[in-house]
Amino acid sequence: MHIVGGGMAGSEAAWQAAQMGVNVVIHEMRPKVETFAHRTGKLAEMVCSNSFRSDDHEQNAVGLLHWEMLQANGLVMRQAYANRLPAGGALAVDREAFSQSVTDALAAHPNIEVSGEEIAELPEDGQWIFATGPLTSDALGRAIATETGAESLAFFDAIAPIVYAESIDMDVAWLQSRYDKGETEEEQKAYINCPMTKAQYEAFIDALLAADKTEFHEGETAGYFDGCLPIEVMAERGRETLRHGPMKPVGLTNPHKPEEKAYAVVQLRRDNALGTLFNIVGFQTKMKYGAQTDVFRMIPGLENASFARLGGIHRNTFLNSPTLLDAQMRLRARPNIRFAGQITGVEGYVESSAMGLAAGRMAAAELLGHPLPQIPQDTAHGALIHHITGGAEAKTFQPMNVNFGLFRPVEGLKGGRRGRRDRYKAYTDRAKEAWSGWLATQEVPA
Ligand SMILES: Cc1cc2nc3c(=O)[nH]c(=O)nc-3n(C[C@H](O)[C@H](O)[C@H](O)COP(=O)(O)OP(=O)(O)OC[C@H]3O[C@@H](n4cnc5c(N)ncnc54)[C@H](O)[C@@H]3O)c2cc1C
Repeated sequence: MHIVGGGMAGSEAAWQAAQMGVNVVIHEMRPKVETFAHRTGKLAEMVCSNSFRSDDHEQNAVGLLHWEMLQANGLVMRQAYANRLPAGGALAVDREAFSQSVTDALAAHPNIEVSGEEIAELPEDGQWIFATGPLTSDALGRAIATETGAESLAFFDAIAPIVYAESIDMDVAWLQSRYDKGETEEEQKAYINCPMTKAQYEAFIDALLAADKTEFHEGETAGYFDGCLPIEVMAERGRETLRHGPMKPVGLTNPHKPEEKAYAVVQLRRDNALGTLFNIVGFQTKMKYGAQTDVFRMIPGLENASFARLGGIHRNTFLNSPTLLDAQMRLRARPNIRFAGQITGVEGYVESSAMGLAAGRMAAAELLGHPLPQIPQDTAHGALIHHITGGAEAKTFQPMNVNFGLFRPVEGLKGGRRGRRDRYKAYTDRAKEAWSGWLATQEVPA
């Protein structure tokens, strides 16, 4: 099997496949060809933070992914624990020692060969996993765009914040599509609307302009400004720009105050088929995370909003996976090719490694002639795979972190903030049982 990219996903995929008895070649272009973010030639390099985020496997979806990967003898997690640094509830590591230990473990594996070249095309034959990440080389990016169609491969993300539906105050907000457009009632009520008075709008613009922003890295910006201006940049172009753009109040009537015309309206659009997540339309932003929560909670109806993810704009090569990949993460049009990691539209070290684990096992099993049963949707791995390969809206698809909004509700539990502890525990208990059941269908040595 060939794996292109020895980052988080490629390293984990190689380990899993090799443990299943398959011979693997990892093709990693560094250090011969460099990216603007990587600094070494090591495998599984952490390009920025040294944290794998929350390690709480009962109350946090990222912690649950840690747990699932450990149960599956995941190399990334095992080496993360071996190189752990004190960091409260987070799993932070010594980054040098971590990537060195992953590199050493892969180099020492009898079934793994590491080959140092850039792959610039999608091969016709053989079993391949492409795990080339957010900074996929230009030549390979062009080859993928040729195969999938240019509109199916993005080179930047433009992430609008995503809010848990249950945390929106529907005594203030209401459901309505602009001009009640749509054939069915569901379509006519596809958006959640949050109204603003003039004073609220002015205060919001002031906060937006004053908020702390992050800068692009050097070499990161080429070709970015087409059609995804950050909202703060729109606001800098004129105080009224947003009111004539994503916050225009036309075609909407507030049923809570039908006599009162809103001065501006913030709209949220459904982000997943389950209807548990809504993104704030047109609100991609480079504001720092702390500033985003402060500014967005000024929006009437979002005062107590919980965010499944905050906004961002980054250099990020990713596929429109809901249209391109099947449930086994194979390119529908070329089933000998799988994708894994951040290029599939997940985001983060943990999520990317998890997608590597899943792709590595699925590809190896297929090669060995006994394809695996589908990963259960109620696991953290399954919830992410389900989201990227079909659960997400293809038209507005943007990279996603793992979060409980991707999980099917557990019946009979209380909604809202008060019920949250019990609900999260129920999600993680259910996930652990389903994951253990899935793992029991396979025999992979530790
Ligand atoms: C600037 C920046 C900062 C980030 N900060 C964080 C953070 O703090 N926390 C976090 O969780 N996530 C962060 N991310 C996201 C992070 O990159 C991913 O979460 C994770 O590294 C993705 O894993 P991956 O295996 O998909 O890609 P990577 O880990 O990037 O691995 C891809 C590998 O493929 C190689 N490659 C690319 N093209 C080719 C080719 N054609 N042929 C051969 N090899 C190739 C690359 O050299 C690289 O080693 C950041 C991303 C960027 C760009």
